[in-house]
Amino acid sequence: MALINEHFLKLPNNYLFSDIAKKVNSFKVTHPKEKIIRLGIGDVTQPLPPAVVDAMHKAVDEMTSKSTFHGYGPEQGYSFLIDAIIKNDYAPRGITLEQSEIFISDGAKSDTGNIGDILRHDNSIGVTDPVYPVYIDSNVMSGRAGVLDSGKWSNVVYIPCVAENGFIPDLPGRRVDILYLCYPNNPTGTTLSKDELKKWVNYALANDVLIMYDAAYEAYIQNPEIPHSIYEIKGAKKVAIEFRSFSKTAGFTGMRCGYTVVPKELNGFTLDGERVLLNKLWNRRQCTKFNGASYITQRGAEAVYSPEGKKQVREIIDYYMTNARIMKEGILKCGLNAFGGEDAPYLWIKTPKGLTSWKFFEKLLYEVYIVGTPGVGFGPSGEGYLRLTAFGNRDDTLEAMARLKKWML
Ligand code: PLP
Repeated sequence: MALINEHFLKLPNNYLFSDIAKKVNSFKVTHPKEKIIRLGIGDVTQPLPPAVVDAMHKAVDEMTSKSTFHGYGPEQGYSFLIDAIIKNDYAPRGITLEQSEIFISDGAKSDTGNIGDILRHDNSIGVTDPVYPVYIDSNVMSGRAGVLDSGKWSNVVYIPCVAENGFIPDLPGRRVDILYLCYPNNPTGTTLSKDELKKWVNYALANDVLIMYDAAYEAYIQNPEIPHSIYEIKGAKKVAIEFRSFSKTAGFTGMRCGYTVVPKELNGFTLDGERVLLNKLWNRRQCTKFNGASYITQRGAEAVYSPEGKKQVREIIDYYMTNARIMKEGILKCGLNAFGGEDAPYLWIKTPKGLTSWKFFEKLLYEVYIVGTPGVGFGPSGEGYLRLTAFGNRDDTLEAMARLKKWML
């Protein structure tokens, strides 16, 4: 008899995006003629940069000949991609990393979800609230989150990020062993300044806290003062793992490629207090459970750093960030309060007249045919907010704002 991991049974059945899909589908049945504009799910809409496509075509051709064929690659990723990452993402910011500190993967969702494999089940967890649901759910699955009580997990410290505190998380009142930070933030679209990030690194250094820093949206940062990597802060290599993704940077949501940095200065502890290199454990975990991202995909990712690739990626990001600006201006003109959208592709809207997130979601769907994401789906502090994404195409974005203005004004 195979006994199951019963922690899975603790996960609530509802999954935010399937709940939204159900509501949108029933709207479509009753309103078959209305054109819905989807600004809900955070998937990109622009095609891959041509430099990436060219590189992948070349890589496919290599696979057709015995002399250039690639079978299993290194579990940690090809050195051509790791080199490009070090040279382009870190060295210009004064961050030195060794090849063996970077692990290429099939994306940041897998890595942020899987990283718990190398950590004990009874660490306490801290998250900023609202939060990317993967951090919570993956900890529930491993039994680390405790039990769900009134929308909160008992072993998770929720650090509210709301308009009232300018979306700046306060240091937790309770001990946390592992802390998840995501900046630029999904879902709020807000960022942390260098000083604010320094506060967290210093806190982690003083309290032996391990920071999981998710920088999946760093490419969207426009303000030169905002840090792109946690390692821009002194001492961070001793306390932080950083996750990055090519998904939103270069349209890789369907290609699948990302990477995780596990510095060799970073230690975990045995119950007896003995220090253990987390780099060694993650390497072991990957070698056992992961067989590398495909050669073709990694060649595509490498091309993101070529001169043409960089230019094309910049154009795509500018396109989305222009959408974000159009949306923010439009929403503010309607008299609604909107946050984020300046260094991130997400806008976080305060619902009007004290409406709940779901009520506002339904009003937008039924009255203006726009699909957003109810903020409460990202955690208790998301109640009273709704997320819109700037990943739509320009015409839809403009039309959505025109509809909103007509509706509100
Ligand atoms: N981290 C955050 C904060 C995200 O919002 C997302 C995707 O939406 C991911 C990670 C997942 O990225 P990937 O496509 O690389 O798995």
